[in-house]
This record gives sequence, structure tokens and C-alpha cells, in this order.
Amino acid sequence: MPGASGRTVIVAGGAGFLGSHLCDRQIAAGHRVICVDNLSTGRLENISHLMDHPCFAFVLHDIVEPFELLEDVAQIYNLACPASPPKYQIDPLHTFKTSVFGALNLLRIAEEKGARILQASTSEIYGDPEVTPQPESYRGLVNTIGPRSCYDEGKRAAETVFHDTHEERGVDIRIARIFNTYGPRMDPEDGRVVSNFIMQALTGETLTIYGSGQQTRSFCYVDDLIDGLIALMNSDKVGPDPVNLGNPGEFTIAQLADIVLQMTGTQSTVSYRELPRDDPRQRRPDITRAKAVLGWAPKVPLREGLVPTIAYFMSEVARNARNKPE
Ligand code: NAD
Ligand code: UDP
Repeated sequence: MPGASGRTVIVAGGAGFLGSHLCDRQIAAGHRVICVDNLSTGRLENISHLMDHPCFAFVLHDIVEPFELLEDVAQIYNLACPASPPKYQIDPLHTFKTSVFGALNLLRIAEEKGARILQASTSEIYGDPEVTPQPESYRGLVNTIGPRSCYDEGKRAAETVFHDTHEERGVDIRIARIFNTYGPRMDPEDGRVVSNFIMQALTGETLTIYGSGQQTRSFCYVDDLIDGLIALMNSDKVGPDPVNLGNPGEFTIAQLADIVLQMTGTQSTVSYRELPRDDPRQRRPDITRAKAVLGWAPKVPLREGLVPTIAYFMSEVARNARNKPE
């Protein structure tokens, strides 16, 4: 690939919400990016502005299947996996295979190329945690046979595959345990709470709170998260052990609904729906390790990050209205 003076980086899942921001950041830093994505939950419009860039290549591929690359590669970010519960539950076996076979396929490329590889793991590996905040040493409380298991157990198994490949074959790995992240380029239809609430507020529908709304989540703005991923990938101090990345600011889902109602100025109200099975009651990252080894901490508080996020969803609503058949 011509053009850049920097390294070549694979971003698997690069057409998705987080992956497309990561592609932008790598290109801006002067690196060459190979974006590998099957477009199952990603969208070409997230990367359309990069398609003609001489340092960007898009490969339509499902990472469950092995693949070859001719180029030398210095770094691989594995972000390929549906992340929203309604999406990853559409085909649970494929979600599980994406995590496990996908990890094995990308690790094989990392070994062949001598590349460093980062796994986008998740706070979901802690399941429905009994301790709060959750440090990396907490082993989790996860159901093996529930609706979330394909994702949670797939991501847990992927960590094992990464760890064992490092131990047995010396592959240079990084593992990021990402907590709920939001921002522009979330798919308005993807069913996660931030996108649902904002879209509902902007279109005058009721905000659907599942359960009592007293369950908590900690929301990290996308720019902070991408800073953390890049810092983790580029750090030579941190080693192969997992690192939590997230914003420790913890909110109940009812509080989030109130904030969205307030910030959008909508006339919408809230309605209550059944709580999905195995929905975690609380989630908050202990980021002591990320602060110590990466010097990283999130900077953007929830209300501040929601400003550009709401603006993005407003433009999505306007675009949908324009594209609607007469
Ligand atoms: P997303 O659904 O927007 O992006 C995932 C991308 O991976 C999409 O472009 C999708 O098309 C692609 N993909 C899915 N399965 C694939 C496969 N088998 N082969 C090739 N490509 C495939 O989700 P996101 O929020 O951007 O999440 C990115 C990564 O970060 C995921 O691995 C997710 O588990 C992890 N993560 C995200 C969050 C969050 O809050 N956003 C939290 C924890 C972990
Ligand atoms: N949730 C909700 N209304 C929605 C979507 C989600 O109340 O329209 C709740 C969901 O039950 C969970 C929390 O919000 O308790 C976060 O859900 P999300 O799907 O965003 O992420 P995850 O559960 O994987 O953390």
C-alpha cells in the first residue's frame, strides 16, 4: 500500500462504531490501515470517507474463516464482534465462533507476521458482578447457558486463547476489557441503551427502561476509549495481562433516561419493559491499573460526551427523514 511512512495496522471490525474511529486515528497518525469486516453490524458509511485514501484498504471478510495477507503487519486490533445484546443474540453460535475462531485466525496472522495483537475484550466477562468496582483480578459471575452467554463466554474464551498463544508461542498480546462506550457512529438501530434512548427522545417515542431502571452502567465517551486502546497497544510496559478501560462514573439507567430527556428537551416520557434475563445489576470499572501502567484516564464526563452524541443522532434522524420514500 503506497503513501504512508508509518506501520501497517489491521483493524478487524473497522467498519463498526469503535473500529471506524480507530481507523481514523491510525490514518491521521500516518499509518496504513487494513480494515477487515464482514459488515454484519458495521456500516460502510462509517468508513466511506476513508475508502479513497491511499493508506486505507477495506477487506470484506468474516474472521471466523482463515485468511492470508501478503503485506507485513506491525499491529492487529481485534474489534470484530457484534457488541449489542439484540445483535449478538441473532446468531449466538456465530457470535461465539467470531470470538473464538476469529481470535485463533488473527493470532495466527500475528504469529506469522511478528505483529503485536490487541483483543477487544469486555466488562461482560465479569457477568453479573458481586463486587464493585470491578478490578481485573475479579473472575466474574457468568451464566454458561443464558441469552448473553454466547458473547460473555465467547469473550472469556478469546482471552484464554490469547493468553495461551502468548504463553506457548510467544505472540505479543494486549487485552483491553472495555466497559460501555458511546458516541457518534453508534448504529441508531443497534439496540443499546444510549442509542435507543436518544433516538426515542428525538423521535417523540417513550424511552424504554428495562426492569426498574435501578441497574447501573458506567459510560465512556468514544474518544477517551480510543485513546486508551492506542495507549495499551503502544505500551511496552504493560505486558499481556488484561487492562480495564472505561469511565468509572456510574449511573442508573433511570438516571440516564432523565439526562437524555433533559438534554434533548423532548416531550417524551418513559415506559417500563421487562428486564432481559441475566441483565447485570451493576457495572463500574476499577481503572487503577490503566492509570498506573498507561497513565490513562477518561476525560469526558457523561453530560459532555452526550452533546456531540445527540448532535450525531439528530443528523441521523434528519438523514432518515430525507431518504424516506414520499
Ligand atoms: P459494532 O457492532 O459497531 O462493531 C463490530 C464490528 O465487527 C462491525 O463492523 C461488524 O460488522 C464486525 N464484525 C462482527 N462480526 C464479524 C466477523 N465474524 N468477521 C468480521 N467482522 C465482524 O460494535 P462496537 O461497539 O464497535 O464494538 C467493537 C468491539 O469492542 C467488539 O469486539 C465489542 O465486543 C467490543 N466492546 C465494545 C463495547 C462498547 O460499549 N462499544 C464494550 C465492550 C467491548
Ligand atoms: N436498557 C434499557 N432500555 C433499552 C436498552 C437497554 O433499559 O432500550 C438497559 C439494559 O437492560 C441494560 C442497560 O440498559 O440494563 C445497558 O444495556 P446495553 O444493551 O446498552 O448494554 P449491556 O447490557 O450489554 O451493558
